[in-house]
Amino acid sequence: TSALHLAGFRGVTAPVAACLGQAWARSLSSHAQDTNTYIQQALKELNLPQRFEKALVTPRRELCVQLTILNDNNEIQTFEAYRVQHDNARGPYKGGIRYHPQCDLDDVRSLASLMTWKTAVMDIPFGGAKGGVTVDPSTLSENELEKLTRKLVHSFRGVIGPHSDIPAPDMNTGAREMAWFFDEYSKYMGFSPAVVTGKPVNLHGSLGREAATGRGVFYAIRNLLEADGYGSIEGKTFAIQGFGNVGSHAVKLLEEHGGKVVGVSDIDGCLYNKDGIDIKGLVKHVGEGKSILEYAHSGNSIIPGETIFEVECDVFIPAALGAVIDDSVAQKMKCKYIVEAANGPTRPEGDNVLNERGIKILPDIYANGGGVAVSYMEWVQNMQEFKWSEAEVNQKLEEKMRDSFEQIWDIHQTKNVTMRTAAFMLALSKVLESRDLRGYS
Ligand code: GLU
Repeated sequence: TSALHLAGFRGVTAPVAACLGQAWARSLSSHAQDTNTYIQQALKELNLPQRFEKALVTPRRELCVQLTILNDNNEIQTFEAYRVQHDNARGPYKGGIRYHPQCDLDDVRSLASLMTWKTAVMDIPFGGAKGGVTVDPSTLSENELEKLTRKLVHSFRGVIGPHSDIPAPDMNTGAREMAWFFDEYSKYMGFSPAVVTGKPVNLHGSLGREAATGRGVFYAIRNLLEADGYGSIEGKTFAIQGFGNVGSHAVKLLEEHGGKVVGVSDIDGCLYNKDGIDIKGLVKHVGEGKSILEYAHSGNSIIPGETIFEVECDVFIPAALGAVIDDSVAQKMKCKYIVEAANGPTRPEGDNVLNERGIKILPDIYANGGGVAVSYMEWVQNMQEFKWSEAEVNQKLEEKMRDSFEQIWDIHQTKNVTMRTAAFMLALSKVLESRDLRGYS
């Protein structure tokens, strides 16, 4: 559809396709526009001149390529892939790579922008980027996925690097893909573990990285309940949409601290138990490759997947795809708090409804920032050629989650804005300050 796509489809040598201005013009009614709406809301509160807006919403660089592999039947298969580098005023671009059939350029643009604000909120010296491949990875063999990942490195190798842009896992990618990524990049550039984070622990990865996003979500919830005078996690009820790496680690910790997880949903459907689902057991069950719906025993019942949003609970945790909470979903929700483990789960119309209904939202750019925070720790360990203990990583993560929360909470209270606007205000000020300090000439 765009010039970028065409360049990719014709197989033109992966040039860096700059489309500044176009991104701006084409961003209406899209995921990217949703993110831009939140930026605009915070800019208004900061009383900054309108002229900053375009610079803040427009990515610095967008790369669109076509990846071609010979599949296991020796047939040619092609996939579109994207890397959007949103902002690097505060440091090298940073952000994951997702493999998903619905992933497109608009999606990746929105996610890249969220990374800029997330690294700023978490106060780590990186900018924001995101990558994606439009693929359903469940339809590919391990061999085909490896070929695809290596082709991705081949196409992106000119714009990534330990000091320029550092990818990481995201939806449907993990330590296995990061190991291939590191290996392939090192073939071109020499040994470079710091080019990518989220690697296997035995291949220059960091202890605690895999659980970090979920663990961060747990700390975020604890900080929120305490600051809001709602007490501890003990005895509180939780419902979660998504039981992948982030969601499962988050609710496991909540359960360990006395929380009751009354609803869990994933792509197969939804489990409900008013007395709390046994999460430790469910994690083991899912680890054996079984569906959550086969865990419908010991008081657990199956309810329709979309009714997860209507489950009565203290804290609802979206931990799956973006844009799931629109205005009609927001009307039906029966929770006191929403803590966004997913990236971009709430659309601005949904956000308005929730704010009017008095449901407090702890936004994605803080709530799921534990992942990139520990990615930064992995990068530092790679640079130092030294390994930290898991306890050290977790302690640093806990401190980061506390420090950022205190700043957001302070703005939320003193400026009388939502926590989302407060987090964006904090992030925007940091990025703009870095830009100013670096100068414009
Ligand atoms: N994909 C994760 C996120 O959305 C982690 C990014 C990273 O570690 O760079 O925050």
